[in-house]
Amino acid sequence: MDRPAGEGHGTSRGDSRVTRKPCLGCAGEQVRTTFEVREMMFGLGERFTYWECADCGAIQIVEPPDNLDRYYRGVGYYAFHDPLRGYLKAYLKQQRARFAFSGRGALGRILTARYGFPKIITMLKEWIAIAGLTVDHEVLDIGCGTAPHFIDLMDVGYTRLTGVDPFIDSEIDFGHGVKVEKRRLTEIRRAFDFVMLNHSFEHMRDPRSVMRELIRIVRPEKYVLIRTPVAGSQAWRTYGSNWVQLDAPRHLFIPSVASLSRLARDAGFEVAKVVFDSDDLQFWGSEQYARGVPMFDSNWRVREPRPELFTAAQLKDFRERARRLNETGEGDSAAFYLRRPASLSSNTGDLTGLGMGVNA
Ligand SMILES: [Zn+2]
Repeated sequence: MDRPAGEGHGTSRGDSRVTRKPCLGCAGEQVRTTFEVREMMFGLGERFTYWECADCGAIQIVEPPDNLDRYYRGVGYYAFHDPLRGYLKAYLKQQRARFAFSGRGALGRILTARYGFPKIITMLKEWIAIAGLTVDHEVLDIGCGTAPHFIDLMDVGYTRLTGVDPFIDSEIDFGHGVKVEKRRLTEIRRAFDFVMLNHSFEHMRDPRSVMRELIRIVRPEKYVLIRTPVAGSQAWRTYGSNWVQLDAPRHLFIPSVASLSRLARDAGFEVAKVVFDSDDLQFWGSEQYARGVPMFDSNWRVREPRPELFTAAQLKDFRERARRLNETGEGDSAAFYLRRPASLSSNTGDLTGLGMGVNA
């Protein structure tokens, strides 16, 4: 991989000489570590400076690049790939979804016996159970690219499904009123029964104003789900600047469990449940980055471990270790279920003293 030459690449511990704003999570200014992270999803080789807050444990980029769009659009970012490659694949997936939700369908039964539930189906079933969803509820997926996570719900009768993403080319219509709109969070003008952010929160510039927007667009006693990498996890402690979930420069703010919980409560949410949902990516992805191997090959497609680097036994061990870390609360990503209470107390939403540049 080509690397830019002659830039300051040193990793410093303790204080940083870079001009730095206070922590976007807690407004703290105490630095635990400052470090350089390479762009490794595409192997561009550019380096970005991040720091870890000593107060809340969040990790954040010192200064997002001006041309952040380039790191999504110019290189075929995976969230924007066609979710349904090929009719047959889509049909088989639909049959598995039908069986997963309804227990009906011979083909779905056979496929499920052979392959199990797809991860997305397992997640959707959990969301339905925890958020108490029915087909009448309105669901919003924020920052979903062209592939909203709710799409399998269409197979079992949900139609009040909306996605938003400011980076898509134009609105996408899936039929039956199901759409992904080209829109920012601040441009959403109505409220939903279930709002989810599947690995989009960490891409946003200002977590505090994001929380304030989120509580505005979810109905009382309903849930917001935030799935995000979490700082302080074992993978972060083990791999440091090679931790795959740093994903420089796309990830701007990676909360710790404590910092995300605090941000949510400050906005008026109750933190109803935290489920660790990390997988084997934390091991093979970080191992690859430590060896200088990017996530995607030259076709910008592969999001799987390079077969020449790991044995089947290692990959199995990675999956088993991820499962155990989730059980002990040390996995590198988690799902936060945030409940908007029936009424908001009067002191929530007062963020004016923190100088966060809230511009809702
Ligand atoms: Zn902090």
